[in-house]
Amino acid sequence: MLRTHTCGELRLSDASTTVTLSGWVQTIRDKGGVLWIDLRDRYGITQLILEEGVTAADLFATARTLGREFVLQATGQVVERKSKNPNILTGDVEVRVSALTVLNPAKLPPFLIEDETDGGDDLRMKYRYLDLRRNPVRQNLELRHRMAQQTRLYMDGQQFIEVETPVLIKSTPEGARDFVVPSRMNPGEFYALPQSPQTFKQLLMVSGFDRYYQIVKCFRDEDLRADRQPEFTQIDCEMSFVEQEDILQMFEGLVRHLFKTVKGIDLASVPRMTYADAMRLYGSDKPDTRFGMEFTELKAVRGSGTVDTVDLTSGKGFGVFDSAEIVVGINAPGCASYTRKQLDELTEWIKRPQIGAKGLIYVRYNEDGSLKSSVDKFYTESELKAWADRFGAKPGDLMLLISGDAAKARKQLNELRLEMGTRLGLRDPNVFSTLWVLDFPLLEYGEEEERWFAMHHPFTSPKPEDIPLLETDPGAVRANAYDLVINGTEVGGGSIRIFNRDLQARMFSLLGFSDEEAKAQFGFLMDAFEFGAPPHGGIAFGFDRLCSLFGGADSIRDFIAFPKNNSGRDVMIDSPSTIADKQLDELKIRTVV
Ligand code: ASP
Repeated sequence: MLRTHTCGELRLSDASTTVTLSGWVQTIRDKGGVLWIDLRDRYGITQLILEEGVTAADLFATARTLGREFVLQATGQVVERKSKNPNILTGDVEVRVSALTVLNPAKLPPFLIEDETDGGDDLRMKYRYLDLRRNPVRQNLELRHRMAQQTRLYMDGQQFIEVETPVLIKSTPEGARDFVVPSRMNPGEFYALPQSPQTFKQLLMVSGFDRYYQIVKCFRDEDLRADRQPEFTQIDCEMSFVEQEDILQMFEGLVRHLFKTVKGIDLASVPRMTYADAMRLYGSDKPDTRFGMEFTELKAVRGSGTVDTVDLTSGKGFGVFDSAEIVVGINAPGCASYTRKQLDELTEWIKRPQIGAKGLIYVRYNEDGSLKSSVDKFYTESELKAWADRFGAKPGDLMLLISGDAAKARKQLNELRLEMGTRLGLRDPNVFSTLWVLDFPLLEYGEEEERWFAMHHPFTSPKPEDIPLLETDPGAVRANAYDLVINGTEVGGGSIRIFNRDLQARMFSLLGFSDEEAKAQFGFLMDAFEFGAPPHGGIAFGFDRLCSLFGGADSIRDFIAFPKNNSGRDVMIDSPSTIADKQLDELKIRTVV
């Protein structure tokens, strides 16, 4: 070894021993007669000291030629420091250098290798290997490592077997767009990279593996919205002979284990909510439950996601509400003092094209008990009071209302709720609120394509009691599907699967597959169902996202060693790139003229 100790290891108890350290120059402080070098490696920083008159003259001269990020090997005696640094673990000591080797000089790095860097995103990504030297980025990857290790520990303890599934598989039309790989040996034919190991893990259940998991790369060729990566990692799991309840408990166990071992947090049991309630109360299937501010309906008709018919707004001459399918709002506690300017700004915010609300109605419940709204022309104070009562509002609160088509209004109000949560400081990244969302619809209708799509995927089983509805009212069929939501982010999702050939075939036909298409694309799975497929189900967690949540960060990028940018490019290796004509010819992708 080129060192006896790491740069994070030496303590006062090591004083007077001779040690050799290797690492990178973090900083050099040249005080004329004394020169200090902070030497850094993954484990920490140790201060080296050279003193004119004490240190050999040639050594002192060499030290003066060093620069940031030079790779050094330094030997010397550990001594107690005069002025100690309580901020670092090695802060009591320094190493009095007696020999110094420059293992490799370094060019001046293009940005500061410090916790707070002056490097912009592009520069950091181009020199990602330097960015990774920075503590915060390295710590994220250390967290990721611990998460993976603890996942393996838990899964192994529960008898799950880690099985690798292939990366070169077959393209299928359902789901997102596939990345494809041309096959040289089969000209004109392509592999696809897996969007998930879904069919393989189901086949492993048919094989009798009983409990499978894998920490696995998945690939989806989607337009990159903020913070999506074309390749990402899942904790992918499947179990046999289980019902939904078994899966929920097993994986609640995993999440609790991770919180406990990685963050030292004892997680309370994960609350559950149906999809219908989530949509009605939060306008989202992944509500952020760190704060309340649930929706209150002032006008709604039973059905369309509403439980009780109510109408506290119609017939008073306000056409906007009269013609609306729904009038729904949130109560922002303590916000009655919002100025006109603040309310106008909020209205403009919600009218932006990204959200697209037509307007925002407000009702101030003043501290003195009076009520003042933007629709005072149409509603008396006692009518406003009836609204406030329904909201459970208190003096000092501000009610914000949206109206229109139910689905759209709920979606817009969801955005407003989240925004208000942020503005009111209710979304602390170090507070964790978990939720199981259950009973998702099996299907959703694609207006453009004029057909049904599987909301989760085509292998998800309908609730047995809803199967008859498949023929009469497919949109009302609920699935045995569940999502795990943490702080408003979907971190995992799965379902109990279909394991019967006929039901699977019916499902494909509902999704618009002809028998031939279903057979060509998923015949292998349907065939397998005829050879003794056990009842089974599973779940997959977005591992990158889980890591970023545990790290209290918004972006998954800093939890991936070498991520791609928003255009799907790796700017460090400059990929994707063109390939040589010879390669194209071999692949028969382009014929030579
Ligand atoms: N394969 C699914 C997904 O990637 C997860 C599952 O159903 O287990 O979302």
